[in-house]
Amino acid sequence: MMDRPDCPAPPDADVRRAVRPVICYPDDTLPDPDLAALTAARQDAVKVAETLVPPRQGRCWDVRAGQFFRITCVGGAQVGDLNLWSAADPSERFYSGKTRALHGTHLTTGDRMWSGFPQLRPMATIVADTLGWYGFDGDGGSVHDVIGTRCDPYTHRLLAGDDYHHCCHSNLTRALAAHLGRDPREVEPLVHDVLNVFMCTGFTRDSGQYFMKASPVRPGDYIEFYAEIDLIGGLSACPGGDCGAEHSSDTAACHPLLVEVFDAGRVARPQPQPSPYRWPSVSPG
Ligand SMILES: [Zn+2]
Repeated sequence: MMDRPDCPAPPDADVRRAVRPVICYPDDTLPDPDLAALTAARQDAVKVAETLVPPRQGRCWDVRAGQFFRITCVGGAQVGDLNLWSAADPSERFYSGKTRALHGTHLTTGDRMWSGFPQLRPMATIVADTLGWYGFDGDGGSVHDVIGTRCDPYTHRLLAGDDYHHCCHSNLTRALAAHLGRDPREVEPLVHDVLNVFMCTGFTRDSGQYFMKASPVRPGDYIEFYAEIDLIGGLSACPGGDCGAEHSSDTAACHPLLVEVFDAGRVARPQPQPSPYRWPSVSPG
């Protein structure tokens, strides 16, 4: 605990610190992911599309409700930054902060990627994760976090003082623009905080700082999702490579990531509807 001479601890400081923590969002009332139904549907699925995301670049793809998509490490350890948008209305997009509040700092099989307000519904459910064995290591690190944001040229400029054009934010922006046939500057506000696929991260115990360490992912490892609604997926092969040293530069060894889409010819369950919450009616003025 840091000594703060300008802010002396009260006599009952230890008592105040020792109160029991309470889980902010107990998850026992969340809808059941029903992995058995998804696993059954997956067995009938055949590959219908694939996209190779080149190193230090981004790509987007379409995936319909009821289909599965898999992200696979090919070639070497590599981190990917994942965005999801509703295909019907890309302003409905993945909400990493609320997903973190509901499922914790790192995602694995059975967790869902939730959209923002006012919809707040599952966009995708994780059905397989070959790094599920990793758990939390001795540094407090784990994989597939929803605590980072995405490497971006603005923070890089702020901290390093120069311009780098292949940050994940930039790659996702260009990929979405190309996918929608729109100008990158126009779609940039749709790019959002990510699921850091394969990235190993945590917070330092002494200073609470966000840390990364070399990803444990190896060629052949994958994470797979069930699309709950019609989606546009976007993935950047992070310029940090395995993120064991640095990001936002051309220094690290980088590898492609493979995205495959599978179709079972049927949907495993109805699409989740937007949140039924309604504002109370208020009279104007
Ligand atoms: Zn990145």
